[in-house]
Amino acid sequence: MELPTFKDIWQDSLQWQPTQDQLEQWEKLYQEILLINNQINLTRITEPNDFWEKHLWDSVAGVIGLDFLQYKESLKAIDIGTGAGFPGLPIGIIFPHWQIALLDSTRKKINVIKLFLEALQLSNCQTIIGRAEDIGHFPEHRESYDLGLIRAVGEVSVCAEYILPFLKVGGIGVLYRGNLQNQEEISLDNALKQLGGKLILVKQFKTPLTQSVRHFIYVEKTIKISEQFPRAVGVPKQQPL
Ligand code: SAH
Repeated sequence: MELPTFKDIWQDSLQWQPTQDQLEQWEKLYQEILLINNQINLTRITEPNDFWEKHLWDSVAGVIGLDFLQYKESLKAIDIGTGAGFPGLPIGIIFPHWQIALLDSTRKKINVIKLFLEALQLSNCQTIIGRAEDIGHFPEHRESYDLGLIRAVGEVSVCAEYILPFLKVGGIGVLYRGNLQNQEEISLDNALKQLGGKLILVKQFKTPLTQSVRHFIYVEKTIKISEQFPRAVGVPKQQPL
């Protein structure tokens, strides 16, 4: 199985196109994932079009065309709860000058990502094993990222509590979501007040192949965060802000 290129769809949906090199890197990543998926269940999304839409298009759509991101500069980014490497890996491939940390609490997944990084010779991505609640307090990671990414890890306010401690003041967090209910926007607003952040933009998309609804929520860290956050392991999920 080979991935589609869909250059025209990239262009129409995001006014952007991958280069030939990037397409080849994505193809390599796809083949690596298929290979390992035979042994370890990494993802249910394995059909070429499905993989293209839900793993590649979706990952990239969250970070393309934003006037508040400095694309030319070397951004420091972190993908929290990256799983098999999404959205961080496809983004690391298209922005080789960004430094991307891929964080997950599951050692097995991080070990697999290390294999991908080696196979793809992706030197701009690093891995971190641990819980966001712990790593967010480490001085080398706390308030040291320009950009935070988080997809399919939990409720919006949980995502906000995971992400904001990692961001520098002025840094941007991207929450990748499916549907977005009013109630979620209210709880996000409430969480951001406590976490020293503000909502700056919500982008809504229909995915180009299956017309599924996607939302990308952009938050900005406005002030230094209280040492109290993130709360102890498990607390953000059990008692969302
Ligand atoms: N972002 C990926 C994976 C989502 S599954 C994707 O969209 O495909 C959620 C992942 O988050 C799992 O791999 C799980 O191990 C990780 N995770 C859950 N809670 C976490 C926490 N508190 N800290 C770090 N990783 C966490």
